[in-house]
Amino acid sequence: MRRKFLKVLLNSFSILIIYPYTLIYAATKKIINKNLTEEQKEILFNEGTEKPFTSALLQENRKGFYHCANCGNKLFSSEAKFDSGTGWPSFSEALPGAFKTKIDYAFGMKRTEYHCAKCGAHHGHVFNDGPSETGKRFCNNGLCLIFKPST
Ligand SMILES: [Zn+2]
Repeated sequence: MRRKFLKVLLNSFSILIIYPYTLIYAATKKIINKNLTEEQKEILFNEGTEKPFTSALLQENRKGFYHCANCGNKLFSSEAKFDSGTGWPSFSEALPGAFKTKIDYAFGMKRTEYHCAKCGAHHGHVFNDGPSETGKRFCNNGLCLIFKPST
């Protein structure tokens, strides 16, 4: 009985700590691009994940920059893109200041979520198993990105 009470108490505390943070984070998110599809909104604002191997950007090999589909913020250079074999567009590094991160525990895993520093929209997760010298693998939903080739 006492143990159960302690457990409930601890859970209440974690909600007190996590909930305000979630509210603050939610307040930074805003839809800027009015032409986003329902699928894009689900990923960008509800931290959804697109089906692997569905993004046309997997085959994109031109030089240029990848921008946030919501606000247009410049996020990645084509120089950092690589084929990770995971089925999602992958990058070894982001442009400076492009993203902010938070730790998420969805699916019982501790992962580092990242979102656009300008509009707060979710883009993907970053892992420490990248093949290049940065050691990073930014695993990005293709639907969150707009590619603009260099001219
Ligand atoms: Zn953005």
